[in-house]
Amino acid sequence: MKINLKGMDQEELRKFVESLGEPKYRADQLFLGIYRDGYSSFEEFSNLSGQLKSKLNECAEIRSLKLNKHLVSKDGTQKMTFSLGEDREIESVWIPSGDEERKTICISSQVGCTLSCAFCATGTLEFKGNLKAWEIVDQVISVERITGEKCTNIVFMGMGEPFHNYNQVIKAAHLFHHPSTWNLGAKRITISTSGVIPSILRFIEENQPFNFALSLNDPRKDRRHEIMNIDKRFPLDELLGTVRHFTKTLKRKITFEYIMIPDVNMDKNTAATLVKLARSVNCKINLIPLNTEFNGWRPPTEKEIDQFKSLLKPAGVPIMNRKSPGKDISGACGMLALKG
Ligand code: SF4
Repeated sequence: MKINLKGMDQEELRKFVESLGEPKYRADQLFLGIYRDGYSSFEEFSNLSGQLKSKLNECAEIRSLKLNKHLVSKDGTQKMTFSLGEDREIESVWIPSGDEERKTICISSQVGCTLSCAFCATGTLEFKGNLKAWEIVDQVISVERITGEKCTNIVFMGMGEPFHNYNQVIKAAHLFHHPSTWNLGAKRITISTSGVIPSILRFIEENQPFNFALSLNDPRKDRRHEIMNIDKRFPLDELLGTVRHFTKTLKRKITFEYIMIPDVNMDKNTAATLVKLARSVNCKINLIPLNTEFNGWRPPTEKEIDQFKSLLKPAGVPIMNRKSPGKDISGACGMLALKG
């Protein structure tokens, strides 16, 4: 079987070229070709001799994901479905944001998800495994090739719980961050978790530079488990203790993501609990409306969103409330896996 070079870091590529008896600089040429230039075959490299290309073709390959479906929203958002074979599919979303220069790619880290957050379509799918680093990285390479544009931000908020696939997710994030590849600043790469405490502790211990977001969704310790199944395993008290450890040790802000669901987590008392929490943690809050009718719930109206936002004002922390793009192609938050 051929060795797939996509997903290897510089060190691994160096070991590979050494094993072929080639000089070290060949590894750097491969590294740039695969990640900076997005090459998917050795033929595309103009700096490799014909002889070396044949040698590489005999034992190695640069694998690419197979595009299955491509949907374009009227708001410019695009959703790509990739096939990994054996009836396994993942989705990635291209999100350009209006007049801003921001072009975000939302990527998946698992096929399906073992958690079943009550607002999320992915959580209803059968779990079919973790993605390898190359399958994570190639989502970005493929989306950029299809759109013909470079992204400015990457968010691990697609299918799956990134911290259940920690090693491959962190490896991919470093490939995006590397100065010779995408050269994306660590703050432009966001990893979002539903609250896997052991992985958060590891993230802190390793002093990982990437943006860190927690899918909070309910600040009440006796209620969060109703929409966040993971709360039964890692209860809110313990989770918030870990979050405070993060903000103090790394001296960085955390982003609390909050899916707004009418009649579930948008009432005055819940808002007051969230205000109290936000005052005690170095944080910002990202409000995301439930995007579609799901699980017997409905999306909030503009008026309900404004009311909830004003209830949170006393927290004195930055509150973001971006419009949810890609609703018509089921590309918005929580909708991946719904038919577009
Ligand atoms: S929100 Fe994330 S962690 Fe929760 S079920 Fe969906 S994909 Fe899994």
